[in-house]
Amino acid sequence: MKIICIGRNYIDHAKELNNPVPKAPIIFMKPSTALLKDGKPFYHPDFSKNIHYELEVVLKVSKNGKAISEKFASDYYDEIGLGIDFTARDIQDVCKEKGHPWEVAKAFDNSAVLGSFIHKTQLNTKEIKFQLQKNGQIAQDGNTKDLIFSFEYLISFISQYFTLQKGDLIYTGTPAGVGKISTGDHYIGLMEGNKILDCRIK
Ligand code: ZN
Repeated sequence: MKIICIGRNYIDHAKELNNPVPKAPIIFMKPSTALLKDGKPFYHPDFSKNIHYELEVVLKVSKNGKAISEKFASDYYDEIGLGIDFTARDIQDVCKEKGHPWEVAKAFDNSAVLGSFIHKTQLNTKEIKFQLQKNGQIAQDGNTKDLIFSFEYLISFISQYFTLQKGDLIYTGTPAGVGKISTGDHYIGLMEGNKILDCRIK
């Protein structure tokens, strides 16, 4: 399986990092070794002094497909969950400055936290409320109505380049409110009020 991530898919997040709003989706990937699931803790690595949390809505690909048209794209996912895209912002800033790839800042071990999933028929996919609580306080408050590129557009766009396979995950971008993690932090992700992600930093 592969983990496909979208950068800058909410205008307010692009602005908070002083990035331009993209005209086409920004895509990067994480390997399967980046996955951290089943509520396991995240052990803060030594290589970064500024790892950020980014709460994102995650689509689980339900069947194989290539060059999928936007019209049929919703047939290719049936479960929606939450994940955290941990990002070593200090390393990413150096990569960006030098024009280098982002992998070391984005794709390291356990950088893709994954919670549980809700079947899409239980959600209005065009308007899903999701929140990240950091130590009991709301840190991020998003709604999929604010996506720059819709789930269907993303699936169509991604599948022009990469064959989607059952079980692949698509992290669809983070809203505003990203910030630095510290040892001892406790993160809870809520989708429409349901706690579906839990991660402690050790
Ligand atoms: Zn992200």
